[in-house]
Formats: sequence, structure tokens, C-alpha cells
Amino acid sequence: MPEMPEVEVVRRQLESHILHKEIESIELLHPKITRKNPEFREALVGDTFIAITRIGKLLTFQFKHYHGFMLGHLKMTGQFIYADNQGQIGGGHSLTKADFNLPHKHTRVIFHFKGNSTLYFNDMRLFAYLQLVTPDEKESIWAGYGIEPGTENYTWENFEKIFDRRKTSIKALLLNQKVVSGLGNIYVDEACYRAKVLPFRTVDTLKKSEKKELFKHCSEVMMESIARGGTTFYQVISPDGKKGNFSDELEVFDRAGQPCYKCGNIISKIKHAGRGTHFCSTCQK
Ligand SMILES: [Zn+2]
Repeated sequence: MPEMPEVEVVRRQLESHILHKEIESIELLHPKITRKNPEFREALVGDTFIAITRIGKLLTFQFKHYHGFMLGHLKMTGQFIYADNQGQIGGGHSLTKADFNLPHKHTRVIFHFKGNSTLYFNDMRLFAYLQLVTPDEKESIWAGYGIEPGTENYTWENFEKIFDRRKTSIKALLLNQKVVSGLGNIYVDEACYRAKVLPFRTVDTLKKSEKKELFKHCSEVMMESIARGGTTFYQVISPDGKKGNFSDELEVFDRAGQPCYKCGNIISKIKHAGRGTHFCSTCQK
């Protein structure tokens, strides 16, 4: 499942490929993806994408003429793949060999641009969506997200407030997208390791110095992952052909049973907050 850094990488790829290209036609191959909106095609054909923004894992597309927005969420298996007018795959993620032969059975929406380039939206599981919303709907959906690393609302002042009057665990709090937007399972485990706190501790036991460490590392781990193109187990191929490789940097996630890089103790894995949770019981308190 893509996490925020992977979605940010996708956003940047799309930005470099599809902006200012006129949509000549749209093929809707599965109605569920567009939430069965009968006006989807009519609303966008002849228009152009002019901006792509993101909050958490939600991509938001803006158009030259259409007054609303298109929200795009990859959920578990959603995938955007761009092909230029020679059919060369210029951007996409989680690519397998089959994806070089498009469209295929999981292709759900196809945008054909003037000049013969194409954007394919594939989704195996059918949880992903491309949904048209009004500006008001977009505003209220965006308002539901918490402070996000890498944006201006991610300040120490705002971060410190998220712990007020809460008795939940560190991990549950940081995974709550209404509180902190963008952090997923992998990155919460990594941030807790770097901050030397056990993810299942309740937040009211945190010292100020520990909160400060979490503030710093939640942001750093996300920014490093974006810079590295995301994680390889969710394979990302950027326009320059590089594969995502943040998995090389993971210190606890997916390392259960292996020795801690800092102390040699064996990394543990438990289920916490409904998720596989990795930690070093020596390095983290
Ligand atoms: Zn350790």
C-alpha cells in the first residue's frame, strides 16, 4: 500500500507529465472508480490539468475550466502510468512487466491527451478512486486532515498541542490522519525508533524532550523517504528511471528477528493499534 512519500513521488511525476495537456477523450472502463458519476467524462473532456496538489495521501487535481476538483486516491493498489506519444512509459509506480503492455485488465480509466500521450489509471482491488467534487466539498475534505510534515502547519507549537488531553498510544495518535496527516505504519515505526520511544507507550507519559525528538524525526523520516523516491517494496520508478530505495534506510520496519543496527538486540514485532509494530526494546524506552 502506498504511503505518503510514494504518493508525493507520484504527484511530482504527474506534474512533470500531464500539466497543460488538453484532454481529448476519456475512457471509463469501470464505473466504481469515478463513483458512478455520469458527468465525469463530459466535465473534463476538452479541459486541461493546471495543478496537482496533495494532502496526506489524497491527490487533488485542478483544471483550466472545470470549476471543481478531481480527487485521486490510490488506496491499496491504485496506479497512474503515463505513456508518451511513442507509447514509452515515462512515469508510473509499482510497475511490473505487465504494466508495459497497456491498457490491461486492471486499467480502469484512460485519459487521452492531444498529441497522443496517455494517462492510465489502473487498480486491481477497486478501492481507489477519481472523484469530482465542488470547491466547498474539497475544502471540507482537506480541513479534515491534521498537521502535515513538510507543510507550514507542521510547527513545534502545533505538534505539542496534539498530545493535550490524550491517553492513547504514540503509534495510534501518530497514525490518526485527523491529527497528523501523512504518517503511515512504516514511518511511525521508524520515527519512534529514531526518537528512542516505544510506539505503544501512552502519550501522557512522554517527556517534553521526547515529544521534541518525535517532532523532529516524524518530519525527517518522511522528507528522506520522499527524497529517495519512496520504498522499494512498493516499487517506484521515477521519470529518470530510478527505483525507490528508502527501504535501504529502514531500521526497524520489516526487520523483526534481525539485530538492531545500534545495539545488536533482536528487533521485536507485535500487533499494536491494529498494525504490525516494530521496535528495539533496548534502544527505545
Ligand atoms: Zn537497539
